[in-house]
Amino acid sequence: MAADIRQAVPSSALCGATVVVALDPPEVVTADVVLAGDRVVEVGSAPPGVRRRDCTGTLIVPGNVCAHHHLYSALSRGMPYRLAPPVTFTEILQRVWWRLDRALDEQAIRASALRGGLDALRAGTTTIVDHHASPYAIDGSLDIIAETLDQLGVRSVLCYEVSDRDGLDRAAAGIAENRRFVTRADGLARGMMGAHASFTLCDATLEQLVDAARGDGVGIHIHVAEDAADQDDAHARAVHGVVERLDRAGVLTDRALLAHGVHVAPAEMHAVGDTGATVVCNPRSNMNNAVGHSPFNHLGRGAGARVALGTDGIGGDLFAESQVGFFRAREADVATPGDWPLVRLAEGARFAGDMHGEPLLGTVRPGAPADLVVLDYPTPTPVTAENLVGHWVFGLSSAQVRDVLVAGELVVADRRSTRVDEAEVAAEGAAEAERLWARMEEIPAHDFTPMADSTRSRR
Ligand SMILES: [Zn+2]
Repeated sequence: MAADIRQAVPSSALCGATVVVALDPPEVVTADVVLAGDRVVEVGSAPPGVRRRDCTGTLIVPGNVCAHHHLYSALSRGMPYRLAPPVTFTEILQRVWWRLDRALDEQAIRASALRGGLDALRAGTTTIVDHHASPYAIDGSLDIIAETLDQLGVRSVLCYEVSDRDGLDRAAAGIAENRRFVTRADGLARGMMGAHASFTLCDATLEQLVDAARGDGVGIHIHVAEDAADQDDAHARAVHGVVERLDRAGVLTDRALLAHGVHVAPAEMHAVGDTGATVVCNPRSNMNNAVGHSPFNHLGRGAGARVALGTDGIGGDLFAESQVGFFRAREADVATPGDWPLVRLAEGARFAGDMHGEPLLGTVRPGAPADLVVLDYPTPTPVTAENLVGHWVFGLSSAQVRDVLVAGELVVADRRSTRVDEAEVAAEGAAEAERLWARMEEIPAHDFTPMADSTRSRR
């Protein structure tokens, strides 16, 4: 790699910016970022003869990674709701999300990925780790998402969330979809095995998932103890908890991605840390669903676990997510370390970089893939490595995103996608939302219930 970079012929440069070279630990320099093909080749002075893009007065940061997203929810904003209001997390799934996912067809999957992917990119998120469900349109669903994100120029790690809730045949189809996609994913997309959550998976399906993941050499992306109902269900299956059940089954490996981890005891957190699995906190989603506060969110570096950040489908803005998550952590513990957002965002990039064979993803170093965000940032104070986190939490915003590069290509320039007509995407999304909402209206609340759920009587 190093030899290749030295021999690469620079083709363009982003000139005159303050550059955040790395988040953890922070490195900040004033320099030109020199590019060749899909790579950063130098952070220093642009050589003569290259195409220069003026970035004076801007801040260049590594592209953000959303480590847990549900792009299928992109057209749910403002949708009508006529059933009795849900008062537990299980009811939120039964009455909202497990109705929406059954209403998805191929056209809606594409429109959701287009809208959600564009929103993420415009917010400075260059990589999306997605967890997809469409139980009545499983086969080929990951290809639709991959092709749509590739069209926009978004890097991705995709999976289908396998579940028994719509029957064992659909669980088997979900496993098959993941296996098919893992072997064919290329370009900006990679695949892994996906699973919904312990409480919607029987032992046999869990075993098949683990066998498939091992066979393909990939990890499993799964929700873990998002609500107390997941733990209640595990107890009803005569194990100590979700973490023990998943560990016994072989889910918890150093390639696994575990979303939430809200209802976990300290011993379970350490058990997760020992496996090397990555935990993804989604603080805005947890607050919105009133499921509780993930201890992984507020502990320094997560009790030995690697902790990243996701949105759980609440858009693709990691500036907003990292700021809200930091404030939530500070509310729980005012001694929350200042590097909190930067460490977590760097973990997300590390995970995505492992999946893409790109160890420098999430940095602006020579040899890194050029996934960069240029922010119009008229700062009132200097930006340094020492105070970067202060700017991140109190100053930066997705509204400042001017340009976005992914794999060296300018995919957002002067706040507009260079790949798609944004007005057309908006019109297509609005039309598709009407169609999706109408189909969803015909679908009743899901009748799947966990084996046990103490929240039914608690709330
Ligand atoms: Zn989720």
